[in-house]
Amino acid sequence: MSFPTDLLIDGRFVPAAAGARFAVTSPLDFSTLAEVAAAGRADLDLAVAAARRAFDAGAWSGMMPFARGKLLRRIAEGIRAAGQRLAEVETTSGGKTIANSLNEVESAANVFEYYAGAMDKFYGDTIPMGSSVLDFTLREPVGVVAAITPWNFPFLAAAWKVAPALAAGCTVVLKPASHTPLTALMLGEIALAAGVPAGVLNILPGPGAARGEAIARHPGIDKISFTGSTAAGALLSRQAADGIKRVTLELGGKSPNLVFADADIGKAAAQAVKAGFGNAGQSCSARTRVLVERGAHDAFLEAFAAATAQARVGDPRDPATEIGPLVSRAQRDTVHGYVESGIAEGCRLVAGGAPPAGLGGGAYYAPTILAGARNAMRVAQEEIFGPVVVVMPFATEAEAVALANDSPYGLNASVWTRDTGRALRVARAIRSGMVSVNSHGSASRYGFMAPFGGVKQSGIGRELGMDALSLYTDVKNVFVDLED
Ligand code: NAP
Repeated sequence: MSFPTDLLIDGRFVPAAAGARFAVTSPLDFSTLAEVAAAGRADLDLAVAAARRAFDAGAWSGMMPFARGKLLRRIAEGIRAAGQRLAEVETTSGGKTIANSLNEVESAANVFEYYAGAMDKFYGDTIPMGSSVLDFTLREPVGVVAAITPWNFPFLAAAWKVAPALAAGCTVVLKPASHTPLTALMLGEIALAAGVPAGVLNILPGPGAARGEAIARHPGIDKISFTGSTAAGALLSRQAADGIKRVTLELGGKSPNLVFADADIGKAAAQAVKAGFGNAGQSCSARTRVLVERGAHDAFLEAFAAATAQARVGDPRDPATEIGPLVSRAQRDTVHGYVESGIAEGCRLVAGGAPPAGLGGGAYYAPTILAGARNAMRVAQEEIFGPVVVVMPFATEAEAVALANDSPYGLNASVWTRDTGRALRVARAIRSGMVSVNSHGSASRYGFMAPFGGVKQSGIGRELGMDALSLYTDVKNVFVDLED
């Protein structure tokens, strides 16, 4: 497998100024895949200066949006041409199943195409103020964007930020997660080959905790788009506040999955597996709290356990595998600690609860169902970020909504019922950025046209769709006095 391992600064791949490198290991067998350059403060300054020059020169932001769109389309073509290689690197370095990696690479290409065609249709308003005044608004790019991405959707998360930022005319400094920087660097290679000018996209792997404050306080950065944990997002947001930087935060979740007794229980149970255990549960939008109406609770639990037993856990390079390893040994140990805490608090283990037999050589963990949970338990309140789902009963619609909303998070939710009125009432009453009805799908599953993001401690702002584009632009009002 070939991929760049240096920093991308000002159109060239270069080692870190201080020469530092860090190892990227595979969660499949803990082997070292690459020694990647680790950006330090000097590299950050160089990358921001390059992005600043590219922005301030005005050639990129001043280009016809239609022409910028052509470049974005070429990036999409480059992604598709490198699709198999990208997917293999994503799977080997992050543990994602090859089927998911291929889907996400295709989805990333779609995101670039969507924004390629969006920017020349995203214009300001003319505001009526009478015949002696012309008042109109301009949509202007916010400037230099720092994009910080997590390890659970390494390539896709980069596409969700880089594509709308570039479409809007911004320049970007991308900091990928340290577990999974390789496909982000490959995106840089593809963007250069597509003709994106030097300095417009810079990529800086390196330790987030050590570099975060410098990014947040950097005078050359105008906006931060962060996806990651709520704790890191809150810290970054506090640090960015002094400079009044624009901040978009896509953070954690503990999303509910509400199953009413009149629902198609078989379908709800089958899709609860995907909603809870997809990407080995390392998904911000995973529905990890399943609330089931009392009358259907036992039947649902039985069907859910049966469907979970069918899920194929194993080597993510095998196209038949549905659940691969977690991203690291440490993540697997954290997940197991949560399972032990749930059992200690009184949960009943219905499935999983340990690494699956025969897969001890990687960071694998069996999909785990904990029944008899109460919503106040740690396993029902905290984001575990692994294949662990808690199941609890409810008696009434009001109780279901109250339990669903009794969470610090508000990212996603699913509602299962054949009663349309109830589906819509509950969809409205749940405090979350997204709700799906009779489906595990979230907006992002179908691509890129609908906004993705959360409320409460799940974040601020949205990704995807036209909402994201508006967050990479500022509105300028122009008032023209037409009197002689
Ligand atoms: P994380 O530890 O917060 O890291 C996310 C990114 O932030 C990484 O690039 C990381 O760099 C960097 N980082 C860490 N500490 C930082 C700091 N103090 N300042 C600035 N950057 C910092 O999160 P993760 O464990 O990679 O990802 C899992 C989390 O992301 C979960 O909570 C999940 O729910 C959330 N997530 C949310 C969404 C969404 O759309 N809402 C999507 C995906 C994931 P290093 O890798 O070098 O530490």
